[in-house]
Amino acid sequence: MQKIDINYGPKIDYRFCKGCGDCYENCPMDVFGWDEEKQMPVVAYPGECSICCFCETLCPEVAIDVLIPLHQMLDFGIAPNKLSKESKFLETDK
Ligand code: SF4
Ligand code: SF4
Repeated sequence: MQKIDINYGPKIDYRFCKGCGDCYENCPMDVFGWDEEKQMPVVAYPGECSICCFCETLCPEVAIDVLIPLHQMLDFGIAPNKLSKESKFLETDK
C-alpha cells in the first residue's frame, strides 16, 4: 500500500509538551492518539484534522502549531512566502 504523507494539521513540539492531555481529550475530530508508555499525545490521524486550531489555542504550553494547507492559505489571501522561516516547528517536523 502506498504511504501518503499529510503535511498539514497539528505538529507537537515535544520540547514544550507536558503531557496534560488537553489536546487529546478535546479535539473534535479525534486526531490525537495517546502514547501510554511516554504519557504523551501523538498525531494519529492528521488527515482527519479540520484545521479548526482549537488544540493550538487550548494547549497551555503553546506546544502545538497547526499547519494550514496551501489551498486554504490561498483562500484566505495569505501568501506562503510571507510566512516566517523562523518557526521552531520547521526543524522538528520530520
Ligand atoms: S495540550 Fe499541549 S501540553 Fe497538553 S498534551 Fe497536548 S501538546 Fe502537550
Ligand atoms: S486543529 Fe482542530 S481538528 Fe485539527 S487537531 Fe487541532 S483541535 Fe483537532
